Amino acid sequence: MSVVTKKIIPLNKWFKESKNLRPYLISGPCSAESEEQLVSTAKLLQEHTNINMLRAGIWKPRTRPNSFEGVGADALNWLKTASKAIDVPCCTEVANTKHVEACLKAGVDVLWLGARTVVSPFAVQEIADALKGIDIPIMVKNPVNPDFKLWVGAIERIQNSGVNKIAAIHRGFSWFDNTPYRNAPRWSMAIELKTIFPDLNIICDPSHIAGKRNLIHDISQKALDLEMDGLMIESHINPDEALSDASQQVTPQNLGQILDNLNVRDSGVNSLNQELKSLRAIIDEIDHEILRKIKDRMQIVEKIGAYKKKNKVTILQLERWKEILESRTNLSNSLSLNLDFTKKYLEVLHEESIRLQTQIMNMNE
Ligand code: PEP
Ligand code: MN
Repeated sequence: MSVVTKKIIPLNKWFKESKNLRPYLISGPCSAESEEQLVSTAKLLQEHTNINMLRAGIWKPRTRPNSFEGVGADALNWLKTASKAIDVPCCTEVANTKHVEACLKAGVDVLWLGARTVVSPFAVQEIADALKGIDIPIMVKNPVNPDFKLWVGAIERIQNSGVNKIAAIHRGFSWFDNTPYRNAPRWSMAIELKTIFPDLNIICDPSHIAGKRNLIHDISQKALDLEMDGLMIESHINPDEALSDASQQVTPQNLGQILDNLNVRDSGVNSLNQELKSLRAIIDEIDHEILRKIKDRMQIVEKIGAYKKKNKVTILQLERWKEILESRTNLSNSLSLNLDFTKKYLEVLHEESIRLQTQIMNMNE
């Protein structure tokens, strides 16, 4: 894929006084709710963690109307007050030109494009146009759907408007299968983004990947193991009462504990090892997907078993088995998979299906 090759300035060079921390840490509430909430969250964050940047959503893109859609421009001053109180820059999400203008006027330090905005090249271009000639760092979340080119394209549009302080935020993707996550991480996409933009820093957003606070530590650890450069974690003085994303927010105290328990390894020490880790992360994802698919298949097998029992049909039907073998063999050939392997795999799968169906047949009503 051909890309714009202008140099991107990394996170720790965005501000003169940036603490050179790894991971670069952004935290604050999902949404700004009141000045008091923002200032007290910021102060507690300062007490329990070492954040580089304070976040808060001012305009919230909600999937359905009538849910909390953010306080709006009034909250920009609260955000500035809270960030000044702890002397770190602040950031918020923008989704259109009006948001950009209001943020520039209020002096917000960093802007980000949200996952629902990045899906729309028109919306991204509109924001990129509003940023022409303005030197403000921009963070680009991955799009909601796992369309890699949309993510790359949004970064290019921002680059094309002359911005060179850019970072990506990896917040996971909507996924059609059951996963333990709110948004499936698809680590392979973040890894691939690094190969396309070697200077680009990537911040992992475990809060939106997890959807629930008990997964945040493990996702953060994985992000660090895969050499992601920073973390954006939502925090709230009273998470259960939060007006948005309540179940994934943590208290600043809890965030401090999560960070204390992270194993931060030196980056770049062993790049060979790193490559191996990245490839293994992709293998893990694929294996988990295969097992979940096998589970889906077994559930259908059980339904077929119940049908056969009810209609007094035999379990093994040779015609069907031949049909399975033939169509899977053709697919295996066209994928250049080893045919012996495919046959062994199908036999094991078939044996397990027969075992399950026999169990159903023998079950007393
Ligand atoms: C957010 O950061 O609160 C947010 C709305 O995130 P996303 O765009 O990733 O859904
Ligand atoms: Mn949120």
